[in-house]
Amino acid sequence: MMKRVYDFKEGNKGMKDLLGGKGANLAEMTTLGLEIPPGFIITTKTCIEFFEAGGKVPDGLWDEVEKHVAALERTTGKKFGDPKAPLLVSVRSGAPVSMPGMMDTVLNLGMNDKVAEAMIKLTGDERFVWDAYRRFVTMFSDVVMGQERHDFELLFEKVKTKEGVKGDTEVSSKGLKETVEGQKKLYKKLLKEEFPQDPLEQLRRSVMAVFNSWNIPRARTYRRVEGISDAMGTAVNVQTMVFGNMGWDSGSGVLFTRSPSDGTNELFGELLFNAQGEDVVAGIRTPIKLADLHTQQPKLYAELKAIAEKVERHYREMQDMEFTIEKGKLWILQTRDGKRTARSAIKVAVDMAKEGIITEEEAVKRITPNNVDQLLHPQFDPEGKKKATLLAKGLNASPGAAVGKAIFNADRAEELGKGGEDVIMVRPETTPDDVNGMVVSQGFLTQHGGGTSHAAVVARGWGKPCVAGCEDIKIDTARNLFTVGGITIKEGDVISIDGATGEVFLGRVPKVDPKFEEEKELIQALDWADEIKALGVLTNADNPEDSRRARMFGAKGIGLCRTEHMFFDQEGEEISRRENVQNMILHSEVAAPLLRQLEALEARAETGDEEAKKEAKELKVKLSKNKEVVEYRKALANLMPFQRGDFEGIFEAMDGYPVIIRLIDPPMHEFLPPREELIEAVTRLRCTGENPKELEEKEHLLHVVESLWETNPMLGLRGCRAGLMYPGLTEMQVQAIMEAAVNEAKKGVVVHPEIMIPLTSHINEMHAEYAKLHKVAQKVLKDAKMSMKFKIGTMIEIPRAALTADEIAKSAEFFSFGTNDLTQMTFGISRDDAEGKFLLNFVDRGLLPYNPFQVIDREGVGQLMKMGVEKGRATRPDLEVGICGEHGGDPRSIEFCHLIGLNYVSCSPYRVPIARLAAAHAQLNHPKKK
Ligand code: ADP
Ligand code: MG
Ligand code: MG
Repeated sequence: MMKRVYDFKEGNKGMKDLLGGKGANLAEMTTLGLEIPPGFIITTKTCIEFFEAGGKVPDGLWDEVEKHVAALERTTGKKFGDPKAPLLVSVRSGAPVSMPGMMDTVLNLGMNDKVAEAMIKLTGDERFVWDAYRRFVTMFSDVVMGQERHDFELLFEKVKTKEGVKGDTEVSSKGLKETVEGQKKLYKKLLKEEFPQDPLEQLRRSVMAVFNSWNIPRARTYRRVEGISDAMGTAVNVQTMVFGNMGWDSGSGVLFTRSPSDGTNELFGELLFNAQGEDVVAGIRTPIKLADLHTQQPKLYAELKAIAEKVERHYREMQDMEFTIEKGKLWILQTRDGKRTARSAIKVAVDMAKEGIITEEEAVKRITPNNVDQLLHPQFDPEGKKKATLLAKGLNASPGAAVGKAIFNADRAEELGKGGEDVIMVRPETTPDDVNGMVVSQGFLTQHGGGTSHAAVVARGWGKPCVAGCEDIKIDTARNLFTVGGITIKEGDVISIDGATGEVFLGRVPKVDPKFEEEKELIQALDWADEIKALGVLTNADNPEDSRRARMFGAKGIGLCRTEHMFFDQEGEEISRRENVQNMILHSEVAAPLLRQLEALEARAETGDEEAKKEAKELKVKLSKNKEVVEYRKALANLMPFQRGDFEGIFEAMDGYPVIIRLIDPPMHEFLPPREELIEAVTRLRCTGENPKELEEKEHLLHVVESLWETNPMLGLRGCRAGLMYPGLTEMQVQAIMEAAVNEAKKGVVVHPEIMIPLTSHINEMHAEYAKLHKVAQKVLKDAKMSMKFKIGTMIEIPRAALTADEIAKSAEFFSFGTNDLTQMTFGISRDDAEGKFLLNFVDRGLLPYNPFQVIDREGVGQLMKMGVEKGRATRPDLEVGICGEHGGDPRSIEFCHLIGLNYVSCSPYRVPIARLAAAHAQLNHPKKK
């Protein structure tokens, strides 16, 4: 027979799937010898059985449960309904994956009229007993019987008003008794039955309620957001009660073994004296901070700290624990891995490795790319903050800077958020019912609740900023506004919240980039990652400033230096680069064919063709006098020194590292004025007859623009095709590159230039470009009397190039996958057109598993890459292969690059730290010889 119920003594932490996270850990801690109130667990499988049977309890379950109740009675010496020693238990849900606040707990089960009377005699504490009973009736009616909790709480509130008191603990025992009586009456009125007195009946109903709570909407929403499977089910924990509400030497609390917000190695948490656990989590009364307990009750603090350390060392992970003190005795009720901010995650991992609790590899593995991303996210500009109006200050519950419209209701937030607006959820306090709005919010602001309130916990889990317990603001949810110091913020008004400081500002506060240099622990973790990883991490940068930034982030070179911007005007330069490009294009109509003819003759001459030699010589002289050719050449020559200067700056910034420079790859028409503009000007000039000379110029321009016009520019005269059609263009670039390299080398800078030809599709293109560029480079070196290693390679971004990589590698000395174009061309999708129109819709509908422009499509594009690597290295075994598309900064794509044996990934400077980490993860998960 299948075992459906496990005693705490029978399980361990490895059994989370079967016993749920809470149960498995309670079992583990029981074995560890900690003070855990005894209990048993009904398995998650039983919950699934229950649903599969359409909400029917499996045969034999109750018998098994009763046996465990009997065993529990023996262990504790207490009995359900026994006036001499009544047993009370809690019924707690516990899914395999932690779902904070998602499933409901029933406390004080076993309570009834008879037990209450008996307990008063036993404890002599009438207040406590009626308080426990009141809580039980409230929870049972709400959680188990599905009644409005508020209606039951209202009865308690009325008694408080009648007695003229505010706090729960100030109500008299008479008042509490009256509350219970009123609640039982209400129960009878609503449910047409007496409040159940039989503890076993209470237990059976509660167990079923926990099962059912697995499927309530808020639990389903949470699972959907977190990607948790519906098929896991929840376990049910039945546990002997201990009482935190037995007076002022009792209490309930929660603690993190280290700070979940910044990782500091100190107890972090809260304790509420004379209260049951629900009070702390709900954030009803303001609890005392454990940091303050340190000075107020050092003995208790030390006891907590000792247990925290023991449990943390045992689990080798920062823990989030729940505890209750009953008349001075400390009980542990729960432990789990603590949710934490990115900052805390990184510090805790690094500190634990340094403390020897985990290894450096484990520390690196525990830090997620997302953690790094979040830490390096923009924060508010301190200057901007000084100028902004500070509205209020609350608790710094989850760090980060958020700006958005204040919205006071979850559904409204969901509506606006999904419409693409930045919103901030503002609530008195959040509950799991607000999750749909919280998902789309930039951050949360709550009036009540502490560092462990729902909003704070969710915010840290999702990496969203949160300011909690901001008591200065007065929220009016009925009117969708809050007021603070005479200012009213209405729905839709923009506010800024700083979750790191708890500040709330009026309006939009500008953000600044974080300081990587100051992130000690992150830098340490990334240094460890560098030792682990097999892949190199380079950066995409095309100016000295980005190069320096990327270097600071840990890039070991430039994997893609684009050169297009070097053809556009730069501020403060005496000549217009663009004008020169334009001139080149204008004169190319006549000049380019002539120069190509010369090239062809010279090539033939080189093979020893005497006639060609003679013809070439004649043509050369002729062309040196041709006005069009002269102008064309002059335009290119004008550009050269400026480009050389650009490259010098970049080489200097990348001293010691390789710099892979891609030759020009633009649609040429981008350098000319737009066609529409020219048509308009020509038409105007023709009509007015004003300026015949200008008209002539514009007409010529228009003529050229039209001759360059392409139906499909993405598939037109791009990449190496430009170099092949405009003689001298890429030669000019290579001359600039090599002269810059020579100049820098003379200054003592260590340069490794690599020249990359874009958009190659056929080996012949590669051969042709290679031959002429190699000659230029060597001439520069020869003139400088210098030797220097340099490489000429190509991007692989057209499927044909990948398919014929063995051929292409005969000429290309390195490959770099341009996966943006490769993805476009493999899918036959124009990214610019598709992403805004149908692509994301396809992803939404599951027609595509994800956006292939973000994550490499392993089956299609990836197959081409794999083939490209294999074929390329078949020709040239030591072929250096990298990636420089946007995928180079995406962790899942980086793993793929590792798997297919690339040498490096190259990504934007800000992604470099993430790429270093992801590359280390790839190696840890799929080790290979480096
Ligand atoms: P959640 O999954 O929402 O955290 P729990 O099952 O942990 O719910 O219960 C919430 C709180 O109820 C606990 O933090 C604890 O303080 C209190 N609680 C649960 N079981 C017991 C018990 N056996 N004795 C005393 N307090 C309990
Ligand atoms: Mg709960
Ligand atoms: Mg709990």
